[in-house]
Amino acid sequence: MANCPFCKNEVTLETVEKEKKGLGILMQEIMYSCPHCKAVIGISRGKWTG
Ligand SMILES: [Zn+2]
Repeated sequence: MANCPFCKNEVTLETVEKEKKGLGILMQEIMYSCPHCKAVIGISRGKWTG
């Protein structure tokens, strides 16, 4: 993946913290947080994502 822009620690798909937020049946948001400093580093939107 990449390094956290806030604390510069390495963040990988294995260690990143994912928080799924359902916005309804069709819409979902997944929030990615740095496991080191807990900063939100990304949000992905999608339909029917698992
Ligand atoms: Zn961080």
